[in-house]
Amino acid sequence: MSHLQLVGVSKRYGAVQAVIDAALEVQDGEFVSLLGPSGSGKTSTLMMIAGFEEPSEGSILLGGQHVENVPSNRRDIGMVFQSYALFPHLSIAENVAFPLKVRRRPAAAIDAAVKRVLALVGLADKADRKPKQLSGGQQQRVALARALVYEPKLLLLDEPLSALDKNMREQMQIELRRIHQQVGITTLYVTHDQSEAMTLSDRIVVFNHGRIEQVGTPLDVYAHPASRFAATFIGDSNIFDGRPGASPGELLAEGGFTVRASRPLAADRSGQACLLVRPEDIHIGQPPEGAVANTLVARVSSVLNMGSGLLVIAQYGGRELRVRAPVSALASAGEGASIPLWWTPESTWPIPPAATH
Ligand code: ADP
Ligand code: MG
Repeated sequence: MSHLQLVGVSKRYGAVQAVIDAALEVQDGEFVSLLGPSGSGKTSTLMMIAGFEEPSEGSILLGGQHVENVPSNRRDIGMVFQSYALFPHLSIAENVAFPLKVRRRPAAAIDAAVKRVLALVGLADKADRKPKQLSGGQQQRVALARALVYEPKLLLLDEPLSALDKNMREQMQIELRRIHQQVGITTLYVTHDQSEAMTLSDRIVVFNHGRIEQVGTPLDVYAHPASRFAATFIGDSNIFDGRPGASPGELLAEGGFTVRASRPLAADRSGQACLLVRPEDIHIGQPPEGAVANTLVARVSSVLNMGSGLLVIAQYGGRELRVRAPVSALASAGEGASIPLWWTPESTWPIPPAATH
């Protein structure tokens, strides 16, 4: 049975449509990210699942049971927010013990549970400190320990790492994965950071303007985006707009050239269609003998050396192409150079016509 189900869930705040007709199923033990730009409805969705906000329409089921009328504190949910919200005057152990004290658990059981979760988040030796004696990352681990200590069935995290610097954030991502694997708790993770969602999740839910545009594994969402928004929000992209050509999968692109995909295009009502090619799928040079490939010669307008590789920006047919290349390509792909490019029809993904909403 699925752990969490949203069925036709909408949320309005006055005239603002924060969430529109959301449908989602999350399985037991899954780590699912809600990914989208600021204001796209992620927090509102989490708040309705937690029971802090009521849906304007639709149903929320936990373990197959409707919870619309179940108060937040009886939904068996742990939550962590961006701000750690620890009690400054209590020790780390007392902070973590707090939810169990509220639940009037016996002292011995509280002690054991606090020891167990502090060890889980790697803070066993910090139990007697006060929050301000810990780093931001450590404080966020305390908040996580406090959310896990009463063994909730569902963990909700709202941008929990966004206040941390980059190194600490990456370290915490690794920690979160480890803890999730160890505890196996169903987790919903809100973020606007696509790389974070890619790294952490079993599946990603893409939000845009209050709507869920796609649900899929990180690989699937990256390789086969369901919309132009998903294609551009997740990863770097080249998108060719145009009209379908004579044969299936053929696009007559703006700028007067043809791009071939191995799958049929889908045109919208006005006859427009588009194709996506990721920058790492475009290669500098000639395709192998006999291979079916898209080829063109473009002029390099700028090269960004990122140490691990190059991002080559090239001009062709009045548009810009983004190409990832190894650093060794620097010799032949300097600024101003004309370079042959090729990519396969298989790596060319038809993006469905613009969504109707
Ligand atoms: P996200 O978490 O993706 O940034 P939110 O769910 O917080 O998005 O917000 C979605 C939309 O709902 C935004 O336009 C936001 O301004 C609006 N909104 C959120 N909470 C409230 C509220 N309590 N009252 C009025 N509008 C709200
Ligand atoms: Mg938010």
